Formats: sequence, structure tokens, C-alpha cells
Amino acid sequence: MTTLDPSPLRDEARQFDQADPLACFRTQFHLPRGPKGGPAHYLVGNSLGLQPKRTASYIGEELSKWQHDAVHAHFSGPLPWMPYHECLAGSMAALAGARPHEVVTMNSLTVNLHLMLASLYRPTLRRHKILIEAGAFPSDHYAVESHITCRGGLPEQSLVLVTPQAGQELLSTERICDVISKTADALALVWLPAVQYYTGQRLDVRTITAEAHRQGALVGFDLAHAIGNVPLNLHGDDVDFAVWCSYKYLNSGPGSVGGCYLHERHARRTDLPRLAGWWGHDKATRFRMENQFQPIPTVEGWQLSNPPILSLAAIRASLEIFAEAGGMEPLREKSVRLTGFLDRWLSALLPERVRIITHHAPEERGCQLSLEVLSSHGNGRRIIEQLESRGVVTDWREPNVLRVAPVPLYNTFEDVAELVVALAEILDR
Ligand SMILES: *Cc1c(COP(=O)(O)O)cnc(C)c1O
Repeated sequence: MTTLDPSPLRDEARQFDQADPLACFRTQFHLPRGPKGGPAHYLVGNSLGLQPKRTASYIGEELSKWQHDAVHAHFSGPLPWMPYHECLAGSMAALAGARPHEVVTMNSLTVNLHLMLASLYRPTLRRHKILIEAGAFPSDHYAVESHITCRGGLPEQSLVLVTPQAGQELLSTERICDVISKTADALALVWLPAVQYYTGQRLDVRTITAEAHRQGALVGFDLAHAIGNVPLNLHGDDVDFAVWCSYKYLNSGPGSVGGCYLHERHARRTDLPRLAGWWGHDKATRFRMENQFQPIPTVEGWQLSNPPILSLAAIRASLEIFAEAGGMEPLREKSVRLTGFLDRWLSALLPERVRIITHHAPEERGCQLSLEVLSSHGNGRRIIEQLESRGVVTDWREPNVLRVAPVPLYNTFEDVAELVVALAEILDR
């Protein structure tokens, strides 16, 4: 057993923080307190992003409009509620790499996935299979499976679960493309995450999309762990559809409204069958209250209900900060350095204690590293508690995986250094 001298690590962190052009954005967020009263080292922005300081006043403005103008606030004032969601389309589209009319802020992630599958999964006797990962997030698995059974299909026949190659734990693009090409003309749809929630792996959206299209299948991506984390280019990569939530890297509050992207070649097709609601109806005639559904010829035509404005206000507050930071390019640049710093020091100091599951190559990951804590022997809860008692907040997944996500908008190199120091102390006991 060796005791770690934390000085070189802390010195390096301090230098990097001093040179960080985005360091000022940390002051835009409320940082939870650690046990000693100072700000915690919050490394779980992949689970619930922190609250921007301006969020309360943005929500407050809408509460005040409700107080003073009530129903008139739908149409009056500088930001009327009726088109409120439209003011988010440009900034959301920038993060998704899409055109503004291909993106809408609505519902939750799983609801949006259902809406997209209802329209885009059109199984035939020959082409009825949906490919997902064997280790998909449960909600994604349930949603996809339920579309197979709702159309009278059988998951045993129509659900293709892609697993990593024998002896590997991460999926390779070659493996996914190989299964896609072998499923060939039985493949209706591919549904994968752009960044995997458990392993932190980033998939090659463009290559996978091209291979699925070559086989005549449609492709959708779950962006829960990708949007606001890695640069995306959905339109350019020719992705058919995508859905996401806004409470992880988009810092918009627990259960806040999600997002949906639909490529314009589908979105403008008003003849596509869908689960419809009045908010998807042509805006000019919506309030005539007739019963001939005329969908808006953009992804907005998939809206169901009038949206929760208080939640949209929180999203507006958060997306403004992304824009002020210069968008994903500078954020990603810092993110690569921040996670690279974590990777380098963990590998140097704790090679026998911690195994990094996530790829080392920056292009194959976002900000998150998933760490297998070796010989943790069901000690997960204790490790988490010991980290918390040192002011370090992380996320544990059974049986032995610690997920840490240094977020470039509000995390510092010091946060990362303190995680490494704390882990070394705890695991060297
Ligand atoms: C967080 C997450 C969800 C959450 O779905 P909700 O509908 O927002 O509750 C779904 N899928 C993945 C992959 C996630 O990471």
C-alpha cells in the first residue's frame, strides 16, 4: 500500500482551471453544498444537471404572467405562451445538428419514442424486425417491444438484440453494421443510443445510419446521454428520428419536457399515420375546433397537447447558457480535456483498483467515464457514502460500476482531482 501525494494532481488541476476560458460559466449554476459547507464536487450531470441561477426568474416571469394576465398571457406580451415552444427550436436544433423545423420540444423521452415508432415502424410480413442493443435502457426496450406486440408481432421473431462480440463488453461499429447487414431486408428499424448510458460509449451515428439505410431500414437515436454532451449532426448524418430528455446534460430540471427530431423528409409528410392531438393541427385553424385533422407539415405535427410553460421556461434559461458559451464546439473541447485529465490520472494512480470501461479514444466517448471498481465486493453503497462524506457526488450502478461525468459548463479540473484523491484514499484502505 502506498499513500498518494495529491500535490502534483492538485497543482495541475489548478493550472488548467486558471487557463480555462469557460471557467466563468460555473458561476451561472447553483452548486449543491458538500458536508463541509463548500460546494460539492458534483459529477452526476449525466443523471440530473444542475440548476442555472437564472432558471428561477425565468419561471417566475411566467408565474407572474399567470398572476396578472391569466388567460391573456397565451397571446399577449413579448413572449406569449401560444408560440412559446417555438422560441426554443433554434437553440435546440443547434445542439441536435438539425434544422429548426425538424426539432420540437414536447412530452418526455419515452412518450416521444412511442410517437415516432407509431409513425415510422410499419412492419410488413417480410420487413418487421427492430434492432436494439441487448443492454438497452429498460424504457427503450419496453417501448420498442410494446410496438411489436401492439401490431400483433412476437418479440422472439421481430426483436433483434445486438450484443458485443464474444469476450468484449463494448459494441463495435463493425459488429452493429454486421448484424444490420445480416438482418438485411427483414430489418424495419434500428434504435440505438448515440451515447450509451451505462458504459459511456459513443456510437458512430453516421456509419450506422448509412449501413441501415443501405439495407432499407429506418434509423433512430436515443440522445438522452448525448445532447448537450457531444456535438451532434442529425440532419447531416441523415438520421431519420431521435428523442431526448432535458434534465440530464440540458440542465432543465427534474422531469422537464423532452425533445424530438424528425428528418424533414418524414416531417413534411402530412399523410404519415400518427397518434394525433389538437396541438399537432394547423395553427391557423386549430381554434375552429373542427374535427378534420390537418397536421402541421413539420415535426410540430406530432405534438399532442399544449405544453407546460413553466418547464419550457426552465429549458429556455438553460439553452441560453449553451448559446452564451459558444455552443457545443468550445464545450466539447473543454470536455475532451476534462475527461482526458480524469482518464490519465486514474490510469496512473489506480490501475489495480479501477478499470475504465469506457473507451480511451475521445471520439468514442462523451464526458462520462464508467469505472469498474475492482474487488468492491458488494461495497458499492459504502464507497458512494465515503465519496459523499468527502464532498464528491457520483452515481453507482450494481454490481460494481461508478459513473462519473465531469460536465464542461460547471465542473472544474479541481472537481476531477478531488474525485481521484478521494477514490485513492478510499480504495487504498
Ligand atoms: C434517462 C433515459 C431515459 C429516461 O426516459 P424518460 O422518458 O425521460 O423517463 C430513457 N432512455 C435512456 C437511454 C435514458 O438515459
